[in-house]
Amino acid sequence: MSAVLELTQELVSRRSLTPDDAGCQALMMVRLQKLGFAVEPMRFGQVDNFWARLGKTGPLLVFAGHTDVVPTGPVEQWRSDPFQPTLHNGLLHGRGTADMKGGLAAMTVAVERYLAAKPAMKGSIGFLITSDEEGPSVDGTVKVMEVLQERAEKIDWCVLGEPSCLERFGDTLRNGRRGSLTGILKVEGIQGHVAYPERADNPIHRVAPALAELIGARWDNGNAFFPPTSFQISNFNSGTGAGNVIPGDATVRFNFRYSSAVTKDELKARVHGVLDKLKLKYSIDWRPMGDPFLTEPGELSQAMQDAVEKATGLRPKLDTGGGTSDGRFIAPTGAQVIEFGPRNASIHKIDECVAVKELEQLVDIYFDVLKKLLG
Ligand SMILES: [Zn+2]
Repeated sequence: MSAVLELTQELVSRRSLTPDDAGCQALMMVRLQKLGFAVEPMRFGQVDNFWARLGKTGPLLVFAGHTDVVPTGPVEQWRSDPFQPTLHNGLLHGRGTADMKGGLAAMTVAVERYLAAKPAMKGSIGFLITSDEEGPSVDGTVKVMEVLQERAEKIDWCVLGEPSCLERFGDTLRNGRRGSLTGILKVEGIQGHVAYPERADNPIHRVAPALAELIGARWDNGNAFFPPTSFQISNFNSGTGAGNVIPGDATVRFNFRYSSAVTKDELKARVHGVLDKLKLKYSIDWRPMGDPFLTEPGELSQAMQDAVEKATGLRPKLDTGGGTSDGRFIAPTGAQVIEFGPRNASIHKIDECVAVKELEQLVDIYFDVLKKLLG
């Protein structure tokens, strides 16, 4: 059995539902300590994180990721126990195999292989691992980054092992992510009898034209790296359940996934503009979930593209799709951040799985990136 398969299995068999790390980080820390890394556990609130570093000089290449996984859903629908990693036809099944314990195992084994070759390393290697990426993400990567910044410990390159590939392993790497902004709009009306609308004020009728305008709006045209900003309504709640009552209020929850061609303040101002123009009585609870970030093509993306092409024959395209990731906490410090990992078709689903061959190629890819950047 290959080293990466073995370590992935050990990680997957630990039931690390957010924020419980369930001993995954200890496994990694022991292996890194053996390689000479200075390992620092950093627990904040309920969340275990660790930072590990080998070398004192720059440039600093960091591997980052998370040990926590999302819940399994109905266990009886899985073809095998989600926390008993099981091989079926070259695929390793289990919760977290693709997102992202396979990536964690690959980065660990790649560093072991790199150091075993006794390189004249020019720079340092770091690991930044959290157990709260799938949850609220307040006591995870963001807090570790605060500590590093206080110490002026600057990351030059960061490889996140998140599953980035779509149809074929090697097709996609992420060099950024869109921003996410949620708003909870509450529109006030006056409750009354449907037969006497003149004595009531229907908040659904009030908000409907505003929603039509927001749904039809073009927020920006995107740019070379981002698709145009999208606006989606996720929840609409109003009404008493009775057929003869005009409700007193309506609540609309919506979300922007936005490009770097617009700011969240501009989006907020435009929403307020529409609601004010239509003279709604309303309030909005704004919940910013993360600003967009982008790593322009550079040494890291180049090294990663070359390594992926060598291993898979595919030259990965740069992409900023998908949800947010912990890259949003690392990129603003000036680090180049690239996400590359296995195919993501099964992540968060029943029967999550990863191809063993992809894990083995991922080790080769990370190993190559280490050689290219650190010598
Ligand atoms: Zn993930």
